[in-house]
Amino acid sequence: MVDLKLPEIKDLTRIERIGAHSHIRGLGLDDALEARNVSQGMVGQKSARKAAGIILQMIKEGKIAGRAVLLAGQPGTGKTAIAMGMAKALGDETPFAMMAGSEIFSLEMSKTEALTQAFRSAIGVRIKEETEILEGEVVEIQIDRPAVAGAASKTGKLTLKTTDMETVYDLGTKMIEALGKEKVQSGDVIAIDKASGKITKLGRSFARSRDYDAMGPQTRFVQCPDGELQKRKEVVHVVTLHEIDVINSRTQGFLALFTGDTGEILSEVREQIDSKVAEWREEGKAEIIPGVLFIDEVHMLDIECFSYLNRALENEMAPILVVATNRGITRIRGTNYRGPHGMPIDFLDRLLIISTQPYTEEEIRQILYIRCEEEDVEMSGDAKLLLTKIGYETSLRYAIHLITAAALACQKRKGKEVDIEDVRRVYELFMDVKRSTQFMMDYQHQFMF
Ligand code: ATP
Repeated sequence: MVDLKLPEIKDLTRIERIGAHSHIRGLGLDDALEARNVSQGMVGQKSARKAAGIILQMIKEGKIAGRAVLLAGQPGTGKTAIAMGMAKALGDETPFAMMAGSEIFSLEMSKTEALTQAFRSAIGVRIKEETEILEGEVVEIQIDRPAVAGAASKTGKLTLKTTDMETVYDLGTKMIEALGKEKVQSGDVIAIDKASGKITKLGRSFARSRDYDAMGPQTRFVQCPDGELQKRKEVVHVVTLHEIDVINSRTQGFLALFTGDTGEILSEVREQIDSKVAEWREEGKAEIIPGVLFIDEVHMLDIECFSYLNRALENEMAPILVVATNRGITRIRGTNYRGPHGMPIDFLDRLLIISTQPYTEEEIRQILYIRCEEEDVEMSGDAKLLLTKIGYETSLRYAIHLITAAALACQKRKGKEVDIEDVRRVYELFMDVKRSTQFMMDYQHQFMF
């Protein structure tokens, strides 16, 4: 492969802007790794969050190779939220990929292919590239402000916008021509007044910030410290290995990244990509960022998948694997044996287990409060109280869903704030599991014969 195509799209895993977990910005821990009551969108579940924080510490110290984390707890107790919090705490560039165990049983691809795609979606590649500065583009250039009387030399950032007609390079060349080569020295700053076209050399005495301010709406130009005009800039972007795979796979276009309809990717394509990435790493052009892969309902995986996971965890680029289940002792799929959480012993042996606990009414209230803010929904105190009761009696997730529905009901009656009636209306319109089951039981003689 001569040229590897790189995706332009940066953040596919986080494409949903207000997704179910968009309010989670980290684990909400303090410097001593203690969980704050409410922080970074996280509420309660303090011991699980603290344990997750210790695991992150181990990751940072490189002590978790070959191991994985199991989050065990009832539905809606924040297992996905904690896994996502771990990814966020590792930094904005850390990829987070999630899948449900049941997703591997797809007709379009083998189970191991589905797992490979999931793993590669959780491995980021940070690529540094040099590109030409384009017309009209805003770029930031690091410059050294020389020391002036009483002030130390500082490094400042100057924003420079190229004009529509010329690239920075052309503009700079023209300015130098206009001023005369010998008059422009390395480190000089030149300004051009767009309106009058007047070119001014600010020289080296521009250090005080008011010099920048005085330049107003002018287009500014900075000469590089070595006296060369900067024509190229360094751009850094993070893509996942899976994104690179899809873009370079002959059968699929990049749109497959949006539809998820990627099909199987040839192993030769992956091998070529891996060797190219290895080359870039050696040249210092790329770095690997291991992300977090979250597999929910892990008991749905079968014995072949578990053996795949055992092997995949040994890879030096492996992401942090976080799995979750709400099952106790159950059959290990693909065998006749039963095992804790439906997992074979050799896989269980690799796991650090964290359990999540059901929420108190107060914690539910706080989570709902945060979700209202996140969804930009104004809600009256009474309505929030009712929603909390509903969340406590039914499930947190059901109550979270009602926020959006109630906001729509409020919008329909042209109200400003969701009130108790809106919540009541949607509570009647949408059943929670308990009521829906009761309804089916009460009327089953009319449905089934
Ligand atoms: P399941 O087992 O059904 O997959 P889960 O344990 O993964 O459930 P989540 O999906 O994480 O549960 O939680 C349900 C919703 O509540 C999500 O929107 C999640 O972001 C939010 N949530 C859960 N726990 C917390 C928490 N401690 N703080 C803030 N938000 C939370």
